[in-house]
Amino acid sequence: MGGESDIFDVLIVGAGPAGATAAYRLASQERSVALVDAAKFPRQVPCAGWLSSRTNTLLSDLGVKVPAKMIQPFKDVTFHSADLSKTANPSFKDAPGLLVDRNEFDHALVKEAKKAGATLFEGHSVSELQIEETQVTANFADHQPVTGSLMILATGRSTRLFDRVGLAGGPPSSGYFAAEIRIDGLPKKKSPTVDVILGLDRAGAFGVVVGIDDRLVINVQCPGDKGDAIPSLISLCRHLKEADMVPGDYTHDAARAAVLVTPAAAALSMDTHVAKRTLVVGDAGGFVSAASGEGIYPSMWSASIAADVVQEALDAPSPQDVLMSFNTRWRTEMAEYLQPPNTDLQYLLPLIFSNQPMADRMGAAFFSGENI
Ligand SMILES: Cc1cc2nc3c(=O)[nH]c(=O)nc-3n(C[C@H](O)[C@H](O)[C@H](O)COP(=O)(O)OP(=O)(O)OC[C@H]3O[C@@H](n4cnc5c(N)ncnc54)[C@H](O)[C@@H]3O)c2cc1C
Repeated sequence: MGGESDIFDVLIVGAGPAGATAAYRLASQERSVALVDAAKFPRQVPCAGWLSSRTNTLLSDLGVKVPAKMIQPFKDVTFHSADLSKTANPSFKDAPGLLVDRNEFDHALVKEAKKAGATLFEGHSVSELQIEETQVTANFADHQPVTGSLMILATGRSTRLFDRVGLAGGPPSSGYFAAEIRIDGLPKKKSPTVDVILGLDRAGAFGVVVGIDDRLVINVQCPGDKGDAIPSLISLCRHLKEADMVPGDYTHDAARAAVLVTPAAAALSMDTHVAKRTLVVGDAGGFVSAASGEGIYPSMWSASIAADVVQEALDAPSPQDVLMSFNTRWRTEMAEYLQPPNTDLQYLLPLIFSNQPMADRMGAAFFSGENI
């Protein structure tokens, strides 16, 4: 690729795990890629930082090299009842997941995409998209336009550019909300721990507490009412303190936490992820697991499928026809992983705490997207 005024094969808007994965994949296949993000990396992301262990397989299939010390496998998982009076420890043959510092992890993926040949435009927010018959152009308030033959939209939870893309059926919406606090500078943990607090309310809200190195992340994910997230986080922090599971009283931090929309499983109800010369991936396409709120691995997974589709479309006489295949390709591979548990958890909860095979099945559902 020559100067910035040339047309790139692919314009990718958003350089989170989804955008960076697609950029890496396409750049390593000798495509010219413009990877654009409003933020400068490393950027701060609210996130508990746990990933399915399948991420390792995806990373090695793609050939992405994230430093091993950045990814810590965990096996120490405890399910708790909402009042923390009951516990269950699911057993796993291998570590069910990995813990990362999201800020470092996302930065590492962006560096890999750059190393593979993608051109990064960071610190510039796309204000407008111009979608024409043969190309897509991103406009900025503070930078000259960047044009690609095809586009991958990976803008996360932001829905600002959706109107410009003209996606039939509109952006993902799920009615799930998340709130989170992160505490750093605690005494260093010997090994990482993940505690999942189930059944915080009748609608199925749950909490996740991740302890790794000197940091602790406490979050809640609530289906339903936005107003439930902060009271739910405060109440969880209070219970955690009373049960001596955390070293301090974090209710004040919880009261000040931001409430974020999370598009859990919204991909499943979207009419299409294909617009003119465009595929939508990651959170922007609602690729988040309904059972656990896990979105990093699904976002990378959806992006790697999209990259393969785009790679094919770039050589096709009618690229749009090939782009359309994304709808069936991701559904075939990912739909089961994203869908909510096929059983009402209210009835299942007592069994999880009294029956080891049920605890194991809940573990497989939560961390590996399997059906209960
Ligand atoms: C509180 C909370 C905790 C979570 N914890 C976990 C967890 O432990 N594990 C897990 O797997 N998932 C977790 N998730 C979900 C996970 O963070 C997301 O699913 C994941 O970030 C999706 O990646 P993405 O690349 O699609 O989007 P993002 O990571 O959001 O990246 C989108 C990028 O697009 C850029 N962008 C947006 N608009 C524009 C624009 N107009 N111009 C240029 N750039 C733009 C943004 O700057 C951003 O960098 C959590 C979510 C929340 C809310």
